[in-house]
Amino acid sequence: MSVTEVARHLKTARHVVIFTGAGASTESGIPTFRDALTGLWEHFDASRLATAEAFRADPSLCWGWYEWRRHKVIQAQPNAAHVAIAELARHVPRLTVVTQNVDNLHERAGSQAVIHLHGSLHSPRCIDCGVAHQAPLSIDVLPGAGARIEPPRCTMCEGLVRPGVVWFGETLPEGPWSDALAAAEACDLFVSIGTSGVVYPAAELPLRAHGRGATVVHINPDRVEVRNQEFFLEGKASDVMTALVNEAFGALLSPRS
Ligand code: NAD
Ligand code: ZN
Repeated sequence: MSVTEVARHLKTARHVVIFTGAGASTESGIPTFRDALTGLWEHFDASRLATAEAFRADPSLCWGWYEWRRHKVIQAQPNAAHVAIAELARHVPRLTVVTQNVDNLHERAGSQAVIHLHGSLHSPRCIDCGVAHQAPLSIDVLPGAGARIEPPRCTMCEGLVRPGVVWFGETLPEGPWSDALAAAEACDLFVSIGTSGVVYPAAELPLRAHGRGATVVHINPDRVEVRNQEFFLEGKASDVMTALVNEAFGALLSPRS
């Protein structure tokens, strides 16, 4: 399917789901997990950082790493793909944005009610009682990637405050998952952007959408595995999303916003 054909679907769709992965934030300078050269896991041992056991075993290493990542997000700006997705909401009858990303770049581009399947770097909570804690919006001193930083203590129970992201081995937050599933099963166009599609259960969403008759389109600069009757648009998130929204709705977005 070409950009023109997908744009035609966008124009007639009643409910569009945009489903993003780390690739949607790459052009904002946030590294993906699996990209061969820049992927975070190429440089860090995930098992030491992204599990509850790892946090309990070495809280300051783990917290320091997440503070480093959070700081990178604070410094980053939404890119043209985030902007095009926010613009899309003005043109289609219903838009649901579902993200696997733990940054807040969709919101900063203007998207509302974003469903975060894997939590957020910006919503830490107590590991023991679950109470939410404020994450300061700025960090005075940029922590290095390997810096140790003591996590704060919970003001309610003195437990350790942990990052508000979903770690390996944890289940997805129930509300966001059921909302995402409901949207995938109700939409008529499902657009998956910048995800390798290997992290389950999130990767099930395009299958569910397809199973209910939606048109499913994947956008990625690298060819991802596309199942029967799903479509693929090769290119960067910023270029393809800008072209789609411009072509479908005559918007005047630039891919380099
Ligand atoms: P992934 O790292 O497995 O895959 C990223 C995909 O993005 C790849 O298929 C890659 O080809 C593609 N990509 C790279 N540049 C792109 C571009 N400019 N435009 C479009 N696509 C591009 O990421 P994933 O599938 O999201 O799964 C990994 C997990 O990592 C997620 O669960 C997420 O929570 C977490 N994560 C989040 C962030 C973030 O919040 N920004 C960053 C890294 C990882
Ligand atoms: Zn507590």
